[in-house]
Amino acid sequence: MNKISLALAHARTLDIDGLEAQTLLLHVMRRPLYDRAWLLLNDALELSSDQQTHYQQALRQLLDYTPLAYLTGLQAFHGLDLQVTPDVLVPRADTETLVDWALSLDLQQARVLDLGTGSGAVALALKHKRPAWTVHAVDQSAKALTVAQANAQRLQLEVAFTQSDWFAQVQGSFELIVSNPPYIAQGDPHLPGLVHEPQSALVSGPQGLNDLQAIIAQAPSYLVPGGWLLLEHGYDQAAAVRDLLRQKGFTQVQSRNDLAGIARCSGGMRPEVK
Ligand code: GLN
Repeated sequence: MNKISLALAHARTLDIDGLEAQTLLLHVMRRPLYDRAWLLLNDALELSSDQQTHYQQALRQLLDYTPLAYLTGLQAFHGLDLQVTPDVLVPRADTETLVDWALSLDLQQARVLDLGTGSGAVALALKHKRPAWTVHAVDQSAKALTVAQANAQRLQLEVAFTQSDWFAQVQGSFELIVSNPPYIAQGDPHLPGLVHEPQSALVSGPQGLNDLQAIIAQAPSYLVPGGWLLLEHGYDQAAAVRDLLRQKGFTQVQSRNDLAGIARCSGGMRPEVK
């Protein structure tokens, strides 16, 4: 399998997704990851023995559920190229739903807080699309914050980062709070497929609701009247999250669907003072 064509055929025999194999090969051959046309035009080109070794090893890691993004170190999110490491959850396309909802609120000079920012995906996408917003992002993990800060610097986006367990180190009030917290239940059958990602970014108690509940309980103290709290959650948690929001006095409680048509985000407004 020293030629590009054979390397791709080999991945097919292992049942590896064609797009993933092409992206991996581009990475190994140090080409831009979007340049799949180059692979097609050069499919008789030979890999060096180092490249072959690297490719073979990466294919084995893919088969062992290592996310492609950890192998290439890059993940596209909402039009940004983010660097990712195993210290952060790989940003998911579903989370663009959260970003799009926040953007659709049509806030002008908003102060925005992103809780559990991980790679910085949500905070950076918001700052990218709304330069006038003041964006603050926190994460409990110092290692995650290092990744997020490096992304902010590379993308030249001004976001203030603080190490904080949810609101513990947060001060001030916000027009908008967003979060994609851990929300998978302990023992969930999907977890074996997610072993390479930080479990602290994925798992949250017996029903996956512990962190969502904690955030909803504390958020009103950090929202201005009329401020919004928008949360991503699991595929079957929308009704539970809406209930939690209503119990804490939120109004206009509603959900938004992800690309698969699943209610993936829920949120509400802290009532205006009358
Ligand atoms: N959506 C992710 C997954 O199912 C989980 C993200 C999270 O827990 N915040 O892989």
